[in-house]
Amino acid sequence: MPANSVDERLALASCPSSPTLLKAHHWVIDRLGQGQCKYCAEERFFAPVFQMGGDYKARNAKAKAAQAPSDAAWRKEQWKKINEDRDFALAEALKETK
Ligand SMILES: [Zn+2]
Repeated sequence: MPANSVDERLALASCPSSPTLLKAHHWVIDRLGQGQCKYCAEERFFAPVFQMGGDYKARNAKAKAAQAPSDAAWRKEQWKKINEDRDFALAEALKETK
Protein backbone atom coordinates (compact mmCIF):
# COMPACT_ATOMS: atom_id res chain seq x y z
CA MET A 1 0.00 0.00 0.00
CA PRO A 2 1.48 3.41 -0.90
CA ALA A 3 2.34 5.75 1.91
CA ASN A 4 0.36 8.94 1.69
CA SER A 5 0.94 11.10 4.73
CA VAL A 6 4.24 12.80 5.47
CA ASP A 7 4.49 10.85 8.73
CA GLU A 8 4.06 7.54 6.90
CA ARG A 9 6.70 8.50 4.37
CA LEU A 10 9.13 9.55 7.08
CA ALA A 11 8.55 6.28 8.92
CA LEU A 12 9.21 4.32 5.73
CA ALA A 13 12.38 6.29 5.00
CA SER A 14 13.73 5.98 8.55
CA CYS A 15 16.86 3.85 8.93
CA PRO A 16 18.25 3.38 12.47
CA SER A 17 21.58 2.12 11.07
CA SER A 18 22.11 5.12 8.82
CA PRO A 19 25.17 7.24 9.64
CA THR A 20 23.59 10.20 7.87
CA LEU A 21 22.05 13.17 9.62
CA LEU A 22 18.58 12.39 8.30
CA LYS A 23 18.72 8.70 9.37
CA ALA A 24 17.37 7.68 6.01
CA HIS A 25 17.82 4.41 4.12
CA HIS A 26 20.29 4.44 1.26
CA TRP A 27 18.66 2.26 -1.37
CA VAL A 28 20.72 0.44 -3.95
CA ILE A 29 18.18 -0.55 -6.58
CA ASP A 30 18.77 -2.89 -9.50
CA ARG A 31 17.08 -2.40 -12.87
CA LEU A 32 14.19 -4.67 -11.95
CA GLY A 33 13.34 -2.56 -8.93
CA GLN A 34 14.75 -4.77 -6.19
CA GLY A 35 16.32 -2.46 -3.62
CA GLN A 36 18.50 -3.10 -0.60
CA CYS A 37 19.56 -0.55 2.00
CA LYS A 38 23.32 0.00 2.05
CA TYR A 39 23.25 0.54 5.83
CA CYS A 40 20.75 -1.89 7.37
CA ALA A 41 20.33 -4.42 4.50
CA GLU A 42 16.55 -4.06 4.57
CA GLU A 43 15.02 -5.10 1.26
CA ARG A 44 12.25 -3.30 -0.55
CA PHE A 45 10.77 -3.54 -4.00
CA PHE A 46 10.55 -0.35 -6.05
CA ALA A 47 8.57 0.07 -9.23
CA PRO A 48 11.06 -0.03 -12.09
CA VAL A 49 11.67 3.37 -13.64
CA PHE A 50 9.97 2.44 -16.90
CA GLN A 51 6.70 1.88 -15.04
CA MET A 52 6.67 5.45 -13.82
CA GLY A 53 5.40 8.12 -16.16
CA GLY A 54 3.50 5.43 -18.01
CA ASP A 55 0.55 7.73 -18.48
CA TYR A 56 2.76 10.38 -19.99
CA LYS A 57 4.28 7.88 -22.42
CA ALA A 58 0.87 6.56 -23.42
CA ARG A 59 -0.43 10.07 -24.02
CA ASN A 60 2.71 10.96 -25.93
CA ALA A 61 2.44 7.89 -28.16
CA LYS A 62 -1.25 8.63 -28.75
CA ALA A 63 -0.52 12.23 -29.69
CA LYS A 64 2.21 11.12 -32.06
CA ALA A 65 -0.09 8.52 -33.61
CA ALA A 66 -2.74 11.19 -34.20
CA GLN A 67 -0.16 13.55 -35.70
CA ALA A 68 1.71 11.30 -38.11
CA PRO A 69 1.11 7.54 -37.94
CA SER A 70 3.89 6.77 -40.43
CA ASP A 71 6.42 8.99 -38.70
CA ALA A 72 9.79 7.33 -38.00
CA ALA A 73 9.85 8.74 -34.47
CA TRP A 74 6.45 7.23 -33.79
CA ARG A 75 7.63 3.80 -35.01
CA LYS A 76 10.68 4.13 -32.78
CA GLU A 77 8.38 4.91 -29.84
CA GLN A 78 6.31 1.80 -30.57
CA TRP A 79 9.43 -0.36 -30.61
CA LYS A 80 10.49 1.17 -27.34
CA LYS A 81 7.08 0.38 -25.87
CA ILE A 82 7.30 -3.24 -27.06
CA ASN A 83 10.70 -3.57 -25.37
CA GLU A 84 9.37 -2.00 -22.19
CA ASP A 85 6.39 -4.37 -22.14
CA ARG A 86 8.81 -7.28 -22.49
CA ASP A 87 10.97 -5.95 -19.64
CA PHE A 88 7.87 -5.52 -17.49
CA ALA A 89 6.74 -9.09 -18.23
CA LEU A 90 10.22 -10.28 -17.29
CA ALA A 91 10.11 -8.36 -14.01
CA GLU A 92 6.68 -9.82 -13.24
CA ALA A 93 7.91 -13.34 -14.01
CA LEU A 94 10.91 -12.90 -11.73
CA LYS A 95 8.70 -11.62 -8.91
CA GLU A 96 6.47 -14.69 -9.16
CA THR A 97 9.42 -17.07 -8.81
CA LYS A 98 10.33 -15.59 -5.41
ZN1 LIG B 1 18.40 1.19 6.05
